[in-house]
Amino acid sequence: MSYDRCKHCGKWGWDTHVCPPMWYAARPDHDSEDDPETTFADDAESAALKYAEDNFSNWEYPSDLEIWVKRSMEDPWEKFAIEVESVPEFHAGRIK
Ligand SMILES: [Zn+2]
Repeated sequence: MSYDRCKHCGKWGWDTHVCPPMWYAARPDHDSEDDPETTFADDAESAALKYAEDNFSNWEYPSDLEIWVKRSMEDPWEKFAIEVESVPEFHAGRIK
């Protein structure tokens, strides 16, 4: 048994790992709806969240965004509004 990052879906797991279903994902107004990217998740909401986390977590000033996902190119888009919360970071500076 080995614990590896799956080459396919990017998740860490044992070599018995089974990938979650693939979803198409797009950010309207930025990505082409006809040429969406892919992500792997168990349901539509998780897919939208994962796509947002994978692609937009490094924004310096994160803002809410809209993500569309669907299981196959023939399906209609399921649309999600992603709310972003900034996590506060604390630093201690010694007072002299
Ligand atoms: Zn996988």
